[in-house]
Amino acid sequence: MAFLISWQLTLISTAVLAITFGPFWLIGKYVYKIRKVHTQAYNEFQGLVYDTLNALKLIIGFGKRKTSLEKLDPVTATVANTGVKFIMVRALVSQLSEPITIIAVVISVTVGLGMLELTVGALFGFLYVITRVVFLVQIITSSRNEFKASEPSFEQIFSLSDEAKINKEHSGNKKVMSLEQGIEFENLNFSYKEDLIALNKINLSIPKGKMIAIVGPSGSGKSTLIDLIMGFQVPDSGKILIDGKNLNEIELLSWRELVGYIPQQPFLFNSSINENLKWANENASQTDINNACKLANASEFISDLEEGYDTVIGERGLKLSGGQAQRLCLARALVRDQEILILDEATSSLDSNSEKLIQDSIDNLTGQKTIISVAHRLSTIKNADLIYYLYAGEIVEKGTFEELVKNKEGHFFRAAKLQGV
Ligand code: ADP
Ligand code: MG
Repeated sequence: MAFLISWQLTLISTAVLAITFGPFWLIGKYVYKIRKVHTQAYNEFQGLVYDTLNALKLIIGFGKRKTSLEKLDPVTATVANTGVKFIMVRALVSQLSEPITIIAVVISVTVGLGMLELTVGALFGFLYVITRVVFLVQIITSSRNEFKASEPSFEQIFSLSDEAKINKEHSGNKKVMSLEQGIEFENLNFSYKEDLIALNKINLSIPKGKMIAIVGPSGSGKSTLIDLIMGFQVPDSGKILIDGKNLNEIELLSWRELVGYIPQQPFLFNSSINENLKWANENASQTDINNACKLANASEFISDLEEGYDTVIGERGLKLSGGQAQRLCLARALVRDQEILILDEATSSLDSNSEKLIQDSIDNLTGQKTIISVAHRLSTIKNADLIYYLYAGEIVEKGTFEELVKNKEGHFFRAAKLQGV
């Protein structure tokens, strides 16, 4: 329409718009830059807040309260600074569109009436069109800046998504319904980093219904071995066989459903004891839960709590002692009532009395369940059917307790002597 009314005036107005809105178009680069800094600073800010809250006791205990807060200062400043800058740019673009419209109108009127001798009617028609165009250009410009502002976040999401795709857990499709014969490791090698071997030529066998202990100094690779059995890590070479089937062909979910797993770090949710236990097995009745707690030697301290099984135990089970949390983790694994029980130093925070009681309950389970027990304290694995001694990622000794302590030159003997077992 503007062209039909006056092509000369249209060209002039377009030039005016290009000159006035041009800088805003270029501002996109600046917006991208400040938002990139903002996103990075915000990531760091959240990481620091998370770490600080998690380590609250440690920080205050070490008298590091002030330094911790000071560490937050520069990131907080960057987040605030870049945030304000972006809001200013956004306001600038929307606020300046009015004066720009007025400039465009004034120029059009002056040129239209003075040089081009347009009729008043034509000029009004033209102005109507041009103000609508300015409005649209303004929306496009500010939308473009919003896009530029979101780009750093999108880049971050896409790069995380790509990384997740690369590291996607590969599960096979063969379902396992139960363990029939046992678990075997065949010449397994694993390393976290290229030249740092965590497990070297591991051969071991865990027959169904037996209790197998894996012992060794800390850092020798015990938890890594458990991670491999759980399918959290994949061997570099060699195999893990479940009833003769390679674990990489097995549907991991079906495999994990056979396992009651107690990780080394006792983790509990901020809900009631009952809810924490039910989480492991939705079909568990109150009797099942009570029995599991009895077996894990937890029922006594639970009944001493004011609200018993309905007691909310705080974030990560903060309201419990280390030993109580560990006993609940054990009970949670038992509530699943699965045929395989994997304990990664599950009794390490217990006093020797509760440890003994739990040991008794685990001993009661032998024969019914296949048990893999990682232990540091050798007193807890006296009754194991077979003990593997891991040293620097290699199995250096294996046998029953009696057999291993006979070898006076062995690692096991030395460890047992040190622990007074
Ligand atoms: P253990 O349970 O016997 O104390 P781990 O299996 O936890 O030992 O660790 C074995 C070795 O692997 C250690 O040297 C440890 O530093 C290393 N390691 C454990 N987890 C990781 C990881 N996620 N990334 C890199 N190295 C790791
Ligand atoms: Mg460990």
